[in-house]
Amino acid sequence: MNLQETEVEKAFRTSVRAWMAANLCGEFEPLRNAGGLGSPGYEPALAKRWEQHLAQGGWTGLGWPRAHGGRELPLAQQVIFHEEYARCGGPRRLGHIGETLLAPTLMAHGSSELQARFLPGILAGETYWAQGYSEPGAGSDLAAVRTRARIDPETGEWVIDGQKVWTSWAQESDWIFVLARSEAGSVRHKGLVLLLVPLRQAGVTIRPIRQITGDSEFNEVFLDGARTEGTLSLGAPGQGWAVAMYLLGCERGASTLGQQAHFKSELEQLITVAQRNGAVHDPLLRQRLAHAALGLETLRSHALRTSGDGAPPRAASISKYVWSNWRRALGELAMDVLGREADIDAGDPLHRTLQHLWLESRSDTLYAGSNEIQLNMMAERALQMPR
Ligand SMILES: Cc1cc2nc3c(=O)[nH]c(=O)nc-3n(C[C@H](O)[C@H](O)[C@H](O)COP(=O)(O)OP(=O)(O)OC[C@H]3O[C@@H](n4cnc5c(N)ncnc54)[C@H](O)[C@@H]3O)c2cc1C
Repeated sequence: MNLQETEVEKAFRTSVRAWMAANLCGEFEPLRNAGGLGSPGYEPALAKRWEQHLAQGGWTGLGWPRAHGGRELPLAQQVIFHEEYARCGGPRRLGHIGETLLAPTLMAHGSSELQARFLPGILAGETYWAQGYSEPGAGSDLAAVRTRARIDPETGEWVIDGQKVWTSWAQESDWIFVLARSEAGSVRHKGLVLLLVPLRQAGVTIRPIRQITGDSEFNEVFLDGARTEGTLSLGAPGQGWAVAMYLLGCERGASTLGQQAHFKSELEQLITVAQRNGAVHDPLLRQRLAHAALGLETLRSHALRTSGDGAPPRAASISKYVWSNWRRALGELAMDVLGREADIDAGDPLHRTLQHLWLESRSDTLYAGSNEIQLNMMAERALQMPR
C-alpha cells in the first residue's frame, strides 16, 4: 500500500476534478450530492442521461480491459476517480450493477457473443441491469432458490416461473440476471442456471415495494412464463451457483472505495450541521464525530490494503461487517446531532438528507449479506470454527 501519490496520479486527480466541475452543472445540477433511486430529488431519466454523459467523457469502464472498450487504468487511479467523483458531489451511479457486477462476470464466464452483445450498452450507460437472486424463502440461504427455468422444445427458449424480491432498480432496468433451478428435482447449489432475461415483456410483472423512506428503491419481480433466448445463460446450465458466487465477489474492489468516498461526504455534511446548530460543543457528540472520522480512515486503509486480486476472501466479510455497522451508527449519530429537529421536516435540504441517511442506513446491515452471515463466514473461514 503506497499512500504517496505519483505525479501521474496527481495529474489524473486534477483532470477528474476539472471534468466534474465543468460537467456536473446545468441540466445535471439537481443531481449534485443526490443519493440513489428512492432519494429525495433523484430523477431516474436525468440520472441515466448523466450516466451517458459520464460514458462520453470516458469515465465508465475505467478498470475494464481495452479489448472490451475500457481504459485499463491501474487500481490507484480508479480509486482516485471514485474519491474525486464523490468529493465533487457526483450522484449515486445507476449503472453500478451492470458495470461493476455483471460486466466482470460476463468477461470471466460469458461467451464472446454475449460479451459483444451486452458490454457496449453497459459501457455507454444505455442498458441497465437488476440482480434477481433473493426470493421469499431464499435470502441469506440463497441456495434455497425455487424459481424454475426450462427449455421450450418448440422454440428453444428458456421459460422462467417464480418470484424474486427486494430487486433493486428493477423498475428502471432493461434486463435482469436471474438465478433459477434448471434441473427439476435438484437441490441446494446443484442444478442452477444464471439467465439474462429482458424485463420488458409480458411474462414479467414488477411491483415496487414502498420503503421506510417513503420511496421505492426495490421491487417484487414476478416471472410467469417469462422468456429469454436459449443462448442467454451465463456459464453452462447446472453451473449457475459458481457463476452467481463469482458475481458476488465483484462487490469488493475499487467500487468499495467509491462507496467510502460517499460516506465521507455524508460525514462532512453531518459535521456542517453540527457546526451550524452547536452540537459540536456537546462533548459526547464531539467524541462520536471524531470516532466516526477515525472509523472511516480505518475502513479506507483496510480497503486499500485488500482491494484487487489476491485479497483473502475473508477481507470482503470484514469490510462488509465493519462498513455497514459504521454507517448505521452514522445514521444514529445524525439523529442525535439534529436533536429535536430530527423528527420534523422544516424544509432544510441538509436535514432531509440526514433524515434519509438514518432511514436508509437501517438496511446496510442486511443487503449484500447480513451481519450474522458475515460473522458466520468469518468464524468458519478465518477462525476455522465448525459449521
Ligand atoms: C436495500 C436492499 C437492497 C437489496 N437489493 C437486492 C437486489 O437487488 N437483488 C437481490 O437479489 N436481493 C437484494 N436484496 C436482498 C438481500 O440480499 C437480502 O435481504 C439478504 O440476503 C437477507 O435475506 P432476507 O432478507 O431474506 O433475510 P433472511 O435470510 O430471512 O434473514 C433474516 C434474519 O435472520 C438472520 N439469519 C438468516 N440466516 C442465519 C443464519 N444461518 N445464522 C444466523 N442468522 C441468520 C439474518 O442475518 C437476518 O437478520 C436487497 C436487500 C436490501 C435491504
